[in-house]
Amino acid sequence: MTAPYRIAVIPGDGIGQEVVPEAVKALNAIGDACGHAFEFQEMLAGWVAIDAYGTPIRDEDLEVCKRSHAILFGANGDPRRDEISVPVRPERALLRIRKELQLFANLRPVRVTPELAPVSPLKQDLVEGVDLVVVRELTGGIYYGEPSRRWQDEDGERRAVDTLLYSETEIRRIISYACELARTRGSHVASVDKANVLSSSRLWREIAMEVAAEYPDVTVEHVLVDAMAMLLIREPKRFDVIVTENMFGDILTDEAAQLTGSIGLLPSASLGAESNEAGHRLGFYEPIHGSAPDIAGKGIANPTAAILSAALLLRNSLGLEKEAAIVESAVARALRERKATADIVRDGPALTTTQMGDVIAAHIKEAAAA
Ligand code: NAD
Repeated sequence: MTAPYRIAVIPGDGIGQEVVPEAVKALNAIGDACGHAFEFQEMLAGWVAIDAYGTPIRDEDLEVCKRSHAILFGANGDPRRDEISVPVRPERALLRIRKELQLFANLRPVRVTPELAPVSPLKQDLVEGVDLVVVRELTGGIYYGEPSRRWQDEDGERRAVDTLLYSETEIRRIISYACELARTRGSHVASVDKANVLSSSRLWREIAMEVAAEYPDVTVEHVLVDAMAMLLIREPKRFDVIVTENMFGDILTDEAAQLTGSIGLLPSASLGAESNEAGHRLGFYEPIHGSAPDIAGKGIANPTAAILSAALLLRNSLGLEKEAAIVESAVARALRERKATADIVRDGPALTTTQMGDVIAAHIKEAAAA
């Protein structure tokens, strides 16, 4: 048994508290089967932390995150408490973690297997076989640019401004990451911008072309964001790696997620610029869904996205590719056997969150022993 990997665990609000324990269960199953130990340190963030400590995340907990090999997260938020005037917002926890851990690359893999294709809202033949990753730049762009403010001019007209700012270093880092990733997959990158209108996008495209020249084995195409919004629905199978800036990525990743039909299936990874002690990137792993207050506490949330986030953690922050693949195959088997929660199994007996986690953990142990 090797020295334990230190994982910070933040279930957060709502169904985060139900799905994250199933991801921990999957990690323990693969750890037991393959001889790895995990040291989990659980902490609060979001509304649960505001209620307990008066802050969305404590400084000492952020320090624990920084010293971990990786962070496993559930969800934050509760729309029932969404009043504009609330002074401390739960989203601050995520923004602080992203900024302080320099999590610059958000990865959202979208794979539509034959068993998932019927769940998609799109025609089955259009989506079956989709296997793409959206790489979204996460620490720059309009969500962080200054000035960002509103005011009233002398005529009483209310005005507001946000600033879309990117540096050469930020763009080069994310495009290089996308090209490296493409090398391990289909060797194709679609770089998304709005270069016909925005200066920041013209710089983005210029640097994307410079970086592409360093990767002659990777095909890099440039697609305008409005065209990409259309192509993701019309020809999603054409894409391998899609890379884009923060706000375009925010929108396109939600669109891409819909290709699979259930929000409970999709994991995500946010990777840092720094290496952890295992020699891999420090990363933050979370399902793409939110806290789902409409089903929280009922024990019916699909734990798949959280468990697949744990698989991404094994691959990207611990370098355990074989183990990650075992977890992914165990999830695929459970879905193939239709041993799943009600969002997937609509015409038969559905499992609870815990039952589905148990099935996947058992499949992991079986696959690892084979
Ligand atoms: P949501 O993802 O929480 O829920 C959308 C719909 O999908 C709901 O009907 C929900 O029941 C269903 N759903 C979500 N996850 C599911 C799962 N694992 N299994 C089965 N069904 C699932 O989005 P929302 O309702 O727009 O947002 C709820 C709260 O979550 C808001 O406060 C929002 O700000 C927050 N949010 C947080 C994150 C995050 O923490 N990263 C992401 C998105 C939304």
